Amino acid sequence: MEKQNFYDLSFDRLKIFLIEKADVPEKQAKMRGEQMFNAVYKKNIKTFDELTTFGLELREKIKNLISLKKPKIVDVQTSADGTIKFLIQFDNNRQTETVLIPDKTKTRYTICLSVSTGCHLSCQFCATAQIPKKMVRNLMPSEIVTQIILSKEYIDDWKTTKTVSNIVMMGQGENLLSIPNLSTFIKIVKDKNGLFYGRTRITISSVGLLNKVGEISAIEHVARELDVYLAWSLHSSLNSQRSELMAINEKFSINDLIPELKKYYEITKLPIFIEYIALEDNLSDEHAKALIKIMKKVPSKLNLIEYNPLANRNFKAATKEKIDKFSKTIQDNGFLALFRKSKGRDINASCGSLALKKIN
Ligand code: SF4
Repeated sequence: MEKQNFYDLSFDRLKIFLIEKADVPEKQAKMRGEQMFNAVYKKNIKTFDELTTFGLELREKIKNLISLKKPKIVDVQTSADGTIKFLIQFDNNRQTETVLIPDKTKTRYTICLSVSTGCHLSCQFCATAQIPKKMVRNLMPSEIVTQIILSKEYIDDWKTTKTVSNIVMMGQGENLLSIPNLSTFIKIVKDKNGLFYGRTRITISSVGLLNKVGEISAIEHVARELDVYLAWSLHSSLNSQRSELMAINEKFSINDLIPELKKYYEITKLPIFIEYIALEDNLSDEHAKALIKIMKKVPSKLNLIEYNPLANRNFKAATKEKIDKFSKTIQDNGFLALFRKSKGRDINASCGSLALKKIN
């Protein structure tokens, strides 16, 4: 019988597992679950032999039932600016990428996680979309949470002052196409006995889909159940151009998404981050006007992202003058606009560049 992977279990699921499979009395399940979460996530034990708060008999039982299996880091690239990119390998030769982006002090890192291997969608400006679709599969919660564990081990987070302080789900994959796994993952990272990240330290990104979870939209579900920042990949404020950049816009247009994004804010009271790559031809006055209209409806902040050219695409990055003018127009209308310079460009670790390529 295959063992249960510990990293796939939320705290509530672990309690049930302990009662049903390990014969832990119901009254003790909470305490035992806390001891296990603490040992794994706060002390980073490598085997259950180190679970010394459990008696020998129960420890042996747990060892036979649950594994602490993790994927492997098979390649590490470090950028001149300190950004680190990991190539992570799962069973059946499937791979994904994880990126650690340092702050100025080089002690605090934002981790950019992938939610799948490759991506189901086909955004034109994104290298991940060019990974063959037959390679695409959603990652299990354990395969997402262990990206954090492996990265923390790499920087020696548990023993030094270095730390993974923020989580952004902006690597490979579309988050709203992986709701059950994403939900378990977020429960684990927010749990006070687990990695214990606060709601404002986690950002989920999405192109914006109107798929449903039960009776409500996936966007509303994320607001109600996960309660973290949402970043909306807009990239053009004009529908016709957005459809050219992102085929999904044909199905779920900007106007279709606005009511759901508004609702997201009303439920969480967290502004939406609008993600917008700075291209030569998506920063005109007409684009600014359309974007201001959107921002008047959806409480939001604008993140302009430096475009990283792809070899087989004809997009041109916007000039600094164009970016400055566009940002100023947005700010003059009372909204926050930030320009984010790319990090990790020399190792293909920046936004839209994750394509499982090694740099030699
Ligand atoms: S931008 Fe995101 S959703 Fe679009 S293809 Fe790339 S990974 Fe997928």
